[in-house]
Amino acid sequence: MVDGHAPLRLLLIGSPGAGKGTQSSRIQDSFDVNSISSGDLLRRNIALGTDIGVQAAKEMKNGALVSDKVMVKLIDQELNKIGSQQSWLLDGFPRTMTQAQALDHTLESSNQPLNLVIHLNVPENVILQRIMDRWVHIPSGRVYNMTYNPPKRAGLDDVTGEPLERRPDDNPETFKIRLQKHHELTEPLLDYYKQRNILVSLAGNTSDEIYPQIRQLLQSRFKPEEEEKVEAGVV
Ligand code: ATP
Ligand code: MG
Repeated sequence: MVDGHAPLRLLLIGSPGAGKGTQSSRIQDSFDVNSISSGDLLRRNIALGTDIGVQAAKEMKNGALVSDKVMVKLIDQELNKIGSQQSWLLDGFPRTMTQAQALDHTLESSNQPLNLVIHLNVPENVILQRIMDRWVHIPSGRVYNMTYNPPKRAGLDDVTGEPLERRPDDNPETFKIRLQKHHELTEPLLDYYKQRNILVSLAGNTSDEIYPQIRQLLQSRFKPEEEEKVEAGVV
């Protein structure tokens, strides 16, 4: 529980490559929070060859957005799996105003409104380099960066030992399109949440610079006894 009463219901918003996946993992290492990543969900659907995966593969490969209808349904399903008293964060959703309004509608109908939106504000000139250095473990969504956060064994996931892959949309051409979509469709959400007084913008060049700010922000919201993993000395 957060603030002594409400569980954390958090969005991570940031341009492609801003480190949403990395920050979600770190938050989960320290706090008792469920995480839903829209991109990871889609990549898992593609790997499994589901109907959604088949529909989404082309858009993802081209850097376009998957339809709002598919995304809203997918995320609603995931949110339904989480108990109303549990904290959660969303990474990569909502990405359009239509998605944001659909999410509000879902959450308001169960009386569980969002209570925090964190904007990861990373300068554009460092992001492309980071993307070109990025390798992922598709089944878990774990992200590595060959410069800042390399795997313990080259090319292999730290936890499973399975091979890491490059994402097909992590190339300069597709990245440019993803960035354009972000400016055009996702950035307007920042104003939407700012007006509701739930937006916090955190700046830095690397995830290492930004994470301590997130941690501090969340620590003040979680009761100490719920930082189980921190107390147990895992972090
Ligand atoms: P990063 O993973 O570095 O934060 P990103 O935000 O571009 O970069 P993902 O969130 O993994 O990457 O999304 C990859 C692709 O999946 C998007 O380019 C888009 O095609 C699709 N996608 C993910 N989330 C959504 C969404 N909420 N709405 C529509 N399409 C989405
Ligand atoms: Mg991601």
